[in-house]
Amino acid sequence: MSIAQNIERITAQLPQDVKLVAVSKFHPVERLQEAYDAGQRIFGENRAQELAIKAPQLPADIEWHFIGHLQKNKVRMIMPWATTIQSIDSIELLNLVNKEAARIDRNVNVLLQLHVAKEQTKSGFTIGEILKVADDGAFNNLSNVTITGVMAMATFTDNMQQVANEFEAVHNTFLTLRDKHFTDNPAFKEISMGMSDDWHIAVQHGATFVRIGTDIFGAREY
Ligand SMILES: *Cc1c(COP(=O)(O)O)cnc(C)c1O
Repeated sequence: MSIAQNIERITAQLPQDVKLVAVSKFHPVERLQEAYDAGQRIFGENRAQELAIKAPQLPADIEWHFIGHLQKNKVRMIMPWATTIQSIDSIELLNLVNKEAARIDRNVNVLLQLHVAKEQTKSGFTIGEILKVADDGAFNNLSNVTITGVMAMATFTDNMQQVANEFEAVHNTFLTLRDKHFTDNPAFKEISMGMSDDWHIAVQHGATFVRIGTDIFGAREY
């Protein structure tokens, strides 16, 4: 199937209010252009340099989401391009993103990355940590950042019950944060979860963004 057909097939299955992030990492700009021509406007990249190289070659109305671990010395590189940084995994990074956004006088949307998977390699706040830093006021006084929700990855496993449990934990944490810390911020409404193998489950548990690469573009060549 072509990229256009894949996008059409996936979009047809998504509820109206769930947005598709086309994860285009490792794919050349020609393939992204193909997706764009099929109507796709939100793209996800996970390496700063790759985003900074690709973005200027593609139409300006693309909404770029950064979805990978963001090193502090790369924040400045992506700041002109990223509309949303989905992978905020420390308060230090959050504050730095705010500072760099202020430096070029723009606002950037961010998602708080939650660590619910079993793999230690995955990054993000544990549920305990995120509730603690929220209580400590870490999300107050951010001039150039809008916290729009949470992001997470499930454990890489065939056990779909475990995946469902992890997505449900993300959903519950989102609700707790929203009702306790974001009552004045209607922009806090997004849950980014679900990839090629588990997005159907993610949607059942409240995802508003699904991040899909392989199911659109085929396998990546590393
Ligand atoms: C690569 C990646 C995806 C997409 O994975 P696929 O299995 O190819 O759909 C989603 N989210 C993140 C954070 C990724 O790094």
